[in-house]
Amino acid sequence: MRVLIVEDEPDLLGSLAESLREDGYAVDTSLRGDEGIHKALSWDYDAIVLDWMLPGLSGIDFLKRLRKVKTTPVLLLTARDTVGDKVFGLDAGADDYLIKPCSLRELSARMRALIRRTTGNATNLITISSIVIDTGSKTVSIEGQPVQLTAREYALVELLALHRGKLVSRTMIYDHIFDEDDDSLSNIVDVHVSHIRKKLGKDFIETRRGQGYIIHG
Ligand code: CA
Repeated sequence: MRVLIVEDEPDLLGSLAESLREDGYAVDTSLRGDEGIHKALSWDYDAIVLDWMLPGLSGIDFLKRLRKVKTTPVLLLTARDTVGDKVFGLDAGADDYLIKPCSLRELSARMRALIRRTTGNATNLITISSIVIDTGSKTVSIEGQPVQLTAREYALVELLALHRGKLVSRTMIYDHIFDEDDDSLSNIVDVHVSHIRKKLGKDFIETRRGQGYIIHG
């Protein structure tokens, strides 16, 4: 899952980015509203964490521009805590709302919930035959036994599992599991897939040559 954080306080931006990276997200960042909206319109992020008061373009104007073209889930982050402000933020197109200073654990849980809702998954657990993927704890087990995956392997399994039954193109994989600072070669996805097959079974991921990958389930 790839997310964008738009926040003009560098220390807060750094800690939010670090926290979400630890959760396994590919994270892009922006310190300005105008730069942020450019990124938000250029990529299909899985979610956006958006500050309200920003240089260049306010969070509210950001939302208005985004909502003309995209349904990307947005968590609005702000020091404003009156009911009127919350209603205004939600009406402008935010999907959720968090008051600063916020707990990183709560942010993490709300991000999971947002992405779960967007992908049409009601719970954190995805079961594919004997394999269970827990998007809350970011763990995978096979017949009840935990399987150790690297962060990137997990991210790839989660992306394919959230879209199970559908073909996921190579481009989509790059857009959703690598961030803007990654400089990866195209064969790396194949390497991850081959490692995942060794751990979860060779039939777990099907390769459609020239098209992408699919998990049936
Ligand atoms: Ca701010």
